[in-house]
Amino acid sequence: LVVLGIETSCDDTAAAVVRGNGEILSQVVSSQADLLERYGGVAPKMAEEAHLQVIDQVVQEALDKANLTARDVSAVAVTIGPGLSLCLRVGVQKAHKLASSFNLPIISIHHMEAHALVARLIEQELHFPFMALLISGGHNLLILARELGQYIQLGTTIDDAIGEAYDKTAKWLGLDMRRSGGPALEELAQVGDAESIKFSTPMKQHKDCNFSYAGLKTQVRLAIESRNINAEIPISSASCQDRSCRADIAASFQRVAVLHLEERCERAIEWARKIEPSIKYLVVSGGVASNQYVRTRLDLIVKKKNLKLVCPPSSLCTDNGVMVAWTGIEHFCMGRFDPPPLADEAEDFVYDLRPRWPLGEEYAEGRSNAR
Ligand code: ATP
Ligand code: FE
Repeated sequence: LVVLGIETSCDDTAAAVVRGNGEILSQVVSSQADLLERYGGVAPKMAEEAHLQVIDQVVQEALDKANLTARDVSAVAVTIGPGLSLCLRVGVQKAHKLASSFNLPIISIHHMEAHALVARLIEQELHFPFMALLISGGHNLLILARELGQYIQLGTTIDDAIGEAYDKTAKWLGLDMRRSGGPALEELAQVGDAESIKFSTPMKQHKDCNFSYAGLKTQVRLAIESRNINAEIPISSASCQDRSCRADIAASFQRVAVLHLEERCERAIEWARKIEPSIKYLVVSGGVASNQYVRTRLDLIVKKKNLKLVCPPSSLCTDNGVMVAWTGIEHFCMGRFDPPPLADEAEDFVYDLRPRWPLGEEYAEGRSNAR
């Protein structure tokens, strides 16, 4: 079994070829970092254009690196949501074209499920049920994965995701945004004093597992304004004193942003154990999971709770094609796929795209517990 995975839900165009046993035959990512820097965020129309420009090349390169042609793969897995519909469409269209030309089954993939399940590719012992904290640019999710395709949502964000807070803070601090803001902010925080500014931890009074980062963003913005930091002056040109002030803000922000994750995880583990007492693992995945401080802090929580942490390597935490191909393999093995599309569907065919697509049921008891 060999599956080609295609991912275009946001700003990365990615493809990969993975074998049924988890062997990664190739992995290609083309990122739109330069566009992001120029426009300060993802503009859907421009992101679509950028995907269209590189999709054929990215998929071809993934096949070439695997020493295969489309004829040799068993199925095509593609992200159909959640994400920007204009962007999703580029990947889905490409998957359909390949599938109809080469008579391949199609597997429709949930982007956040893929972020979680890729952990099973790197950790053989990770069986269901397990817990997952998914932290990225658009999502903050605490999930109990009971079975393949059967998820309970223990918590989600009521406003922004942590990745968005990292990106905005990095921008306001005048960091180099050619990569996304997260890695630049993590680096700066290492030389700052995390105790210097006492930002308050979000949602202290809410005894649930939901997240909120909008308030922390505002606290950070006010701290930056009151210290007269000018984001127009890049940190590389800032004075020594200005630079250390920015580092203090970065470190103080990071401490509280991650403390919020720690508190929510601790409670979520207790909730999850009421439903599935046998859980052994917490998976932490999504772009922000590549952050070393996040990993270290969550490892402490997980140990305290007698669980094991599984955190995929950085290249599999941020958006990638491997997670899509692997999740495709998991579903394919359970017989969950669509037959090859008809060749004449191409022109005005309405693709199944799911820009908003919750992952699993909300944990109802959690809501009443919160009050
Ligand atoms: P989603 O998965 O919610 O649809 P996305 O696909 O755009 O969002 P990912 O590629 O999964 O996001 O993650 C990107 C996010 O991860 C960005 O917000 C980025 O700043 C953040 N990120 C990446 N590396 C780090 C890091 N080292 N520290 C903190 N944040 C990071
Ligand atoms: Fe993602």
